[in-house]
Amino acid sequence: AVRVEDLHKRYGPLEVLKGVDLTAREGEVVSMIGASGSGKSTFLRCINLLELPSRGRIEVAGEELALRPGRDGDLHAADPRQLRRIRTSLSMVFQSFNLWQHMTVMQNIVEAPVHVLGLSRAEARDKAEALLHKVGLYDKRDQYPAHLSGGQQQRIAIARALCMEPRVLLFDEPTSALDPELVGEVLKVIRGLAEEGRTMILVTHEMKFARDVSSQVIFLHNGRIEERGAPAQVFGDPQSERCRQFLSRTC
Ligand code: ATP
Ligand code: MG
Repeated sequence: AVRVEDLHKRYGPLEVLKGVDLTAREGEVVSMIGASGSGKSTFLRCINLLELPSRGRIEVAGEELALRPGRDGDLHAADPRQLRRIRTSLSMVFQSFNLWQHMTVMQNIVEAPVHVLGLSRAEARDKAEALLHKVGLYDKRDQYPAHLSGGQQQRIAIARALCMEPRVLLFDEPTSALDPELVGEVLKVIRGLAEEGRTMILVTHEMKFARDVSSQVIFLHNGRIEERGAPAQVFGDPQSERCRQFLSRTC
């Protein structure tokens, strides 16, 4: 589970997140929607601890990140080992796949489990093979990313994220860089993960998909949660006028 309370993030004078609360329970899929610039990626980067919040609490898998103010006025991790430990319990999949181009598919997947989790090459390869079967790309294991379609590259990126055995998966618009005909194969993999009961936070523009797979939908506007609820409520009967307008523009 992930619990976030009163999350603020500022870059200099610009306050991007202005007090966001979110709980994703074990096995829950929380979707986050909102206009460009509303702070969705910043929020995911804070949960993933790629960035530290300016204020607030973050708890992942029962462990609260210990933060202390630094001389620069920003918060810093009080214990770097704890920061690393919590980081490895989350895996993120980005819009732009971010595969290493000079490595084969297999090398892309086993790299972090070997170096970060300390698995042997053989163990990591076994896990990677199982995951490649799961995403339907076992036959591509020795290819380089440049020889794969965008949809295939994204499925590899998902396999790579899963190989770290994360407690929580984060997705930042995993299909928005894809040609329309490739979106479905990636959503199918993500849907399978939802059905397995994985805990996920998903930023997406795929409204129909969000409606289908989420237990909770959050509409972010200017760094604040403007609307939240069950998908049927947020999509079917939004209370906020801004959310209503956003949906009428995008759906
Ligand atoms: P999109 O839908 O376009 O991906 P988003 O909701 O993910 O948008 P963010 O990328 O979180 O939005 O950005 C929110 C705001 O924070 C924007 O105004 C952006 O310019 C600003 N911002 C993001 N990262 C930084 C940074 N490292 N330094 C300064 N400003 C930043
Ligand atoms: Mg973004």
